[in-house]
Amino acid sequence: MKVRQDIAELLRAGTPQSRICRQLHVAPRTVQRTREVLGMPAPRCGPPDTYASVEDAYRSNSHPIDGGHMRWTGPADTTGHPRLNFRQRRLSVRQVAFRLHHGREPQGRLSVGCDMPHCVAGGHLEDQQIREANRRADAAFTSIFGGVS
Ligand SMILES: [Zn+2]
Repeated sequence: MKVRQDIAELLRAGTPQSRICRQLHVAPRTVQRTREVLGMPAPRCGPPDTYASVEDAYRSNSHPIDGGHMRWTGPADTTGHPRLNFRQRRLSVRQVAFRLHHGREPQGRLSVGCDMPHCVAGGHLEDQQIREANRRADAAFTSIFGGVS
């Protein structure tokens, strides 16, 4: 079988089979046989990776709403926590959102700091470092202005 270079190139780039079929107007069988000739592994089960990066996946599945919150429209686990599947890895959407917003890895557990459950706005998520800073700020406020409770 003669290998079509355009199919081979897309396969090597990790393009999902369905997209190659649409783009080049070829049958799935043609793509499959090309992959076999090239000795490439069969595609994994489950939805294809349609995102170029984790950031792309996050932005494609989150939508800004009033109050600066972000609603997740992608998959969730059984408890409702937003989940992101990227390149066969299951990622925490909170960790991705936090990293994109703060430019660093979160420390410890991440919690939602606003009043919207499962908000995925990076700036609304708090890690250990931010919670401790907030506690210090609260304590400083109380020592300056006195307690309000
Ligand atoms: Zn929020």
